[in-house]
Amino acid sequence: MTDRILIIGAGPTGLGAANRLMEKGHPDFVVYDRNPYVGGLAASFRDARGFTWDFAIHVAHSHYHYFDRLMQDLLPDGFFHLERRSWVRTYNTFVPYPFQNNIRHLPPQYRQECLDGLREIKSRPPSSRPRHFEDWILQVFGKGIARHFMLPYNRKTWQIEPSKMGYQWIGDRVPTVDLDRILRNIEQELDDVSWGPNHTFQFPRQGGTGAIWEKLAERIPPDKLKLNTALTGIDTRNRVAVFDDGTRQKYDHLISTIPLIRLAELTGVADLIRRASGLLYTHVQVIGVAPHVPLPEALQDKTWIYTPEAKCPFYRVTPFSIFSPDHVPDPEQYCSFLCEISDPGTAPAAPPDRITEALDGLKNIGLIHIDPNTAHVYNMWAEFGYPVPTLDRDEILDDVLPALEGMNIYSRGRFGGWKYEVANMDHSLMQGVEAVDRILDGTDEITLPTPNIVNAGKR
Ligand SMILES: Cc1cc2nc3c(=O)[nH]c(=O)nc-3n(C[C@H](O)[C@H](O)[C@H](O)COP(=O)(O)OP(=O)(O)OC[C@H]3O[C@@H](n4cnc5c(N)ncnc54)[C@H](O)[C@@H]3O)c2cc1C
Repeated sequence: MTDRILIIGAGPTGLGAANRLMEKGHPDFVVYDRNPYVGGLAASFRDARGFTWDFAIHVAHSHYHYFDRLMQDLLPDGFFHLERRSWVRTYNTFVPYPFQNNIRHLPPQYRQECLDGLREIKSRPPSSRPRHFEDWILQVFGKGIARHFMLPYNRKTWQIEPSKMGYQWIGDRVPTVDLDRILRNIEQELDDVSWGPNHTFQFPRQGGTGAIWEKLAERIPPDKLKLNTALTGIDTRNRVAVFDDGTRQKYDHLISTIPLIRLAELTGVADLIRRASGLLYTHVQVIGVAPHVPLPEALQDKTWIYTPEAKCPFYRVTPFSIFSPDHVPDPEQYCSFLCEISDPGTAPAAPPDRITEALDGLKNIGLIHIDPNTAHVYNMWAEFGYPVPTLDRDEILDDVLPALEGMNIYSRGRFGGWKYEVANMDHSLMQGVEAVDRILDGTDEITLPTPNIVNAGKR
């Protein structure tokens, strides 16, 4: 008799775990998801008018050879290989990303403030370690860049003060600075855009990001994938999972990819519920908009645009039709945009009505004027969007995750593990793979316990 493993959630983590079990020849598992579709936050939706929508742009940048091989197996000729061309839209101008390397595009007085801030930190390097993310921003970028981009952008995205966040998650995610390079870029009027791990990336030719996860789910025998079925309770003592269709399933190991706060609630264990409730998160609304015009020329060289200003509600906008002609019925006639809006997790858990605000925002920042009466809109919302790396996050996780593991419950993935720095699709899938390897073979996991090692290069 083999151990019975239940997997809760058919997003990248749950599907990654299921696929690993099949690779290892372990037949006794079932995957459950409350949604009628697979892919979780990385799913795509084809609407009745033939537009394809993702829940924000999903750039598949991989830290793992295993993930690369799997993508290749799943969609052998199915990817476009694209170059990141991201920008910051502020002060009615486009600044190429990374912002600090391209401040020559700012109005002169703001450019000077940014340079003064950089010179100040170079001449008087900080003598103490940053206490929090805001300190880190000021110490690394100086006051000018903090004021003109880093602070407003991060407030808008995370919906809390950066002084309440840690900076342990940064790793390869935020580009740091080189003053000489910045001065050279100003003097020689260079655009310096090649920074970073996702400088080039691949994107599915058809079906959006969700095409990857639909393909992976096809490998799972139908009797082992139960959609439209939500976990509603866990009897941790008898190792029984309870579902909303009334079924009760015994398990030896439970791999849960649902938000950790909700998982703790379902165990009914008071200490876990109390401790996990200290974790913060954002709601994310993604408003898809498709005007009946081809993509304006000025946006044709832009893969996505960060928008720190209060003039628009979204923190990022993506001309989604640029990623594949398959995203709109006819690219000669239509284009499409994804506008991402954050709200704090403490806000009511229901999608707010932000469509008019988003369309006004696109106009206010000078991107595109869309007539609300004729635009095609596709509105998406997730209660759990970003797991916020608060100052006490790791302490909470160090209490809650091992306590759950003591009950043979492995909480993994974007909101299962709650570590933003390892919450992308590749990390999530590998958290599922590594959890299975640990359960079956006793192998140590790497991704969740040591994000900095994983993010330091490809393994
Ligand atoms: C705005 C945004 C932008 C992103 N951009 C990128 C990017 O550029 N690149 C990248 O690699 N990644 C990106 N991601 C992250 C990517 O979406 C995640 O890495 C991935 O979806 C996480 O997979 P997961 O399986 O851990 O969780 P999820 O995708 O959240 O899946 C969890 C699943 O659990 C199910 N579930 C929840 N509760 C229950 C229950 N009670 N019973 C049964 N099932 C339940 C849900 O329905 C869901 O399907 C982005 C995410 C967001 C929100």
